[in-house]
Amino acid sequence: CGIIGYVGKKPAKDILIDGLAKLEYRGYDSAGIALLNDDDTLTIKKKAGRVDDLREMCSDDSPVYKSTCGIGHTRWATHGGVTDVNAHPHKCGNVALIHNGIIENYNEIIREYGLADKLVSETDTEVVAALLDTLYEGDPIDAIRRAVRAIAGSFALCIMFADRPGKIYAVRNVSPMIASYTEDGAIIASDLTAIIAFSQNYFVVPEYHILTLSGAGIKVEDMKGKVVEPEILKITWDI
Ligand code: GLU
Repeated sequence: CGIIGYVGKKPAKDILIDGLAKLEYRGYDSAGIALLNDDDTLTIKKKAGRVDDLREMCSDDSPVYKSTCGIGHTRWATHGGVTDVNAHPHKCGNVALIHNGIIENYNEIIREYGLADKLVSETDTEVVAALLDTLYEGDPIDAIRRAVRAIAGSFALCIMFADRPGKIYAVRNVSPMIASYTEDGAIIASDLTAIIAFSQNYFVVPEYHILTLSGAGIKVEDMKGKVVEPEILKITWDI
């Protein structure tokens, strides 16, 4: 239901959880974050319940919270019950991702790519994580392109690969996503309310384009690899 991702100079955890709190008004049943650590590992914290419960879960002094790259999600369950395991982010091998929307052909993908043994949740979303982990041969864009060609439905996806430090990848169809870049870093969200404290400038993520967010900016390319310059819009209303 709600998506946020941040990579930049600041620790990501608080930016993500504060962003999720701003998205609470949309309604949700579970919340979670994934952090990409310096040692090429992914940390997932997620549970059914409130964003405040997630904040509490992430209030220890673990060094993983130094991470400056992460993604966060509030879930409105469509496939699979409201459980901790079904909460996003979903991790499979090298891949962690969050998803808004519905993957219509998840059963066909499980069969076609033999993914059943990789799955631990009941969600349509986890199938995309397993698919990406299967397709990934060291080139994130290539794996995402192939996965996006295989899936059908509505999706806003933010993806991290354990061995791609400081990078968040994103792609969407139908489900909304906007992105922004300032000298503090790059941010992506399902809704302007989550980024307004960060920047007044943003762009609408074009459908079927792959974004690479890093501390240096945001690259937008189409499905053939052609780089596109998005039109920057400005928030003019006061909050
Ligand atoms: N279909 C996914 C699920 O049920 C995502 C739902 C959402 O958009 O929050 O886990």
